[in-house]
Amino acid sequence: MDNMDPIPITLYNTLSRSKERFEPLTPGKVGMYTCGPTVYNFAHIGNLRTFLFEDLLARTLRLNGYEVTHVMNITDVGHQTSDGDAGEDKMAIAAKREQLDPYAIARKYEGFFVNDMQRLGNDIPTVLPRATEHVGEMIALNQTLEAKGFTYATPEGLYFDTSRDPDYGKLAHLRLDEQKQGVRDDLNIDPDKRHPADFVLWFLNKPNHIMKWESPWGVGYPGWHIECSAMAMKYLGETFDIHCGGMDHIPVHNTNEIAQSECATGHPFVHYWMHAAFLNVRGKMSKSKGNFVTVQTLIDSGYDPLAYRYLCLQAHYRSELEMAWVWENDDPTTGRGRAESLDNAGRGLTYLYERLARTTEEPLSSETAFDSAYREVLASLNDDLNVPRAVATLHTYESPRLWNAFDPVLGLDLARRAKLPEDEAPPAPVFALVEERQAARKNRDFARSDELRAAIAALGWEVADTPQGPTVKRHPVGRL
Ligand code: AMP
Ligand code: ZN
Repeated sequence: MDNMDPIPITLYNTLSRSKERFEPLTPGKVGMYTCGPTVYNFAHIGNLRTFLFEDLLARTLRLNGYEVTHVMNITDVGHQTSDGDAGEDKMAIAAKREQLDPYAIARKYEGFFVNDMQRLGNDIPTVLPRATEHVGEMIALNQTLEAKGFTYATPEGLYFDTSRDPDYGKLAHLRLDEQKQGVRDDLNIDPDKRHPADFVLWFLNKPNHIMKWESPWGVGYPGWHIECSAMAMKYLGETFDIHCGGMDHIPVHNTNEIAQSECATGHPFVHYWMHAAFLNVRGKMSKSKGNFVTVQTLIDSGYDPLAYRYLCLQAHYRSELEMAWVWENDDPTTGRGRAESLDNAGRGLTYLYERLARTTEEPLSSETAFDSAYREVLASLNDDLNVPRAVATLHTYESPRLWNAFDPVLGLDLARRAKLPEDEAPPAPVFALVEERQAARKNRDFARSDELRAAIAALGWEVADTPQGPTVKRHPVGRL
């Protein structure tokens, strides 16, 4: 390949409100934490838009040769719902609704969540830690904060004292004197709470809460924010590369994660904070009213879940996406509905599969033309994950080989659905790694050879050694 210079990656960092050049803490490796689902019900397609953005980010980093450790928490400790049912927690409501104990509810919806991720073509994150299995780590983190003087206790719980943190609110550019109370933690106003922005690290005195643990402060359960800090630091270290979530998490949840983590360790918590814009479904979705669209709703309505994926690929992750969803007979209990944007995406995707399957003459037949087109698409992905531009470029070239080379990121299952040849020649960057690995093996440098095998796998290819030399096939992992 003539031009093997790596293409720099830039990411929009919510901390600085600007695009920054991505430099990982450890060369070649990326630690990434993403706020996961609360497993008291199905994930709706809005949640999944955020999880899809995070999947595209991890896949793009892998395509660039990084080894990515992706951690996504499973929130299986109940946290309170909004105003209507303050005092009850989400897991308790679901337990009552379904006559199951809260752990059974959590495991059931965790299973559905993993299944929905797969049906949408998302890779399953490297680690999916459950909050209930990390309460010890959360207590330890709270004890560190207490020992350093960042907490105070009331009969209702142990609080983080925001007045002790001069940096509080830096992510959201908040000023403490303007800060409103966070909605997710303590809806029952505690008269002993000192500042509206202070938040609960450990809840006490909540008789309706089913899941409870012993702690130095008394029997209770952890705050929601401490969950993410404790699990992120356990799996990725006190400082790591990337933390993602939906934009709704900027002012409270992620702000509080930063405050408690940095006050506990004295180090920066995360280098790059990335937030996805919302999917807005007209005809407001509400989990508590049972009026929301899930992957199963899409399937029951006759949609291919990948049509939803394809629709999301056409909007930048920092732009809101509108969907005018209409329930059959205007009745959400039918569990079926339609949206014009999804109809169009579904047709577009089918047409793409057909066109690619029919193309007999590869338009990018010369290596130079292929390499230059490959770099053009990669440059879009590396430019703060500009997937819509990458997809538009792929459409202009109409090259099965180029589409195939980027399917490890796009996840459209082209090899199967568009019947693109599995034994297709690898793109030039993979080919170069295979050559380099052959040279390493010749020099009996097996450690290097193994590293290169991993780098090839990270690009979505699998190398096998035969007496005739190496063969390279598309890697089966991560496909539907
Ligand atoms: P939750 O289960 O409510 O904690 O949400 C899981 C993830 O989905 C979080 O990152 C939220 O920010 C995100 N999220 C919630 N609603 C939407 C939406 N309508 N569109 C996109 N992301 C969302
Ligand atoms: Zn979180």
